[in-house]
Amino acid sequence: MNVSHHPHDDLLMSHAAGALSESWSLAVATHLSFCPKCRASVQLAETLGGVLLAEIPDQELSPDMLEKVFENIESESPETTTPGQFSTVGEYDTKKSIIPPVLSQYVNHDVDNIPWKYIGPGVYQHMLDLSDEGGIARLLRIKAGKPIPDHGHRGREVTMVLSGCYSDQISSFNAGDMQDVDEEIIHKPIVGEEEECICLVVTDAPLIFQNWLPKVFQPIMKI
Ligand SMILES: [Zn+2]
Repeated sequence: MNVSHHPHDDLLMSHAAGALSESWSLAVATHLSFCPKCRASVQLAETLGGVLLAEIPDQELSPDMLEKVFENIESESPETTTPGQFSTVGEYDTKKSIIPPVLSQYVNHDVDNIPWKYIGPGVYQHMLDLSDEGGIARLLRIKAGKPIPDHGHRGREVTMVLSGCYSDQISSFNAGDMQDVDEEIIHKPIVGEEEECICLVVTDAPLIFQNWLPKVFQPIMKI
């Protein structure tokens, strides 16, 4: 699978350190299901973290520390690594289900059996049931050619594409891609004409809609 958009390094490293809350860690783990490049980065970070904890617990950061760590890695077994909240997962077969195994513990693997809720023309959502105060996770299902309602963000938002594609003024995003944006960005994503788009979206605060109508519905729909 050709993945071109990845989580920012801080998310990957925090995931490797087990420092992300459930929803954010779930988004990163979902991306890792698609992306060998990020899997390698996280595995390296986990190994580094494990070696640091195991070998030099009280030592202050020093210029030669990284070199020392790499030397130690060569002799370390994988058991010494510190996994993220969701351990690094391998590639999965997207032909069987668009829901990766790491997500299927939260939602039905058959997307037609997920209890989607209508939130606007061509747009359906399903909130994931997480007890996570650090983020809100939802699945969005948007019909082909339909826009996702205009929104800015209070805080950060990641959108992980599971199937289909969308584009905004920044780029195009296909299955496996993760868009990682902060509150500076107001984007207008539109789903490709070919097929519907299903994505996992994690935000750290309610979205701010620009139009009055969605704004009115925001508290009701918990968008
Ligand atoms: Zn990646």
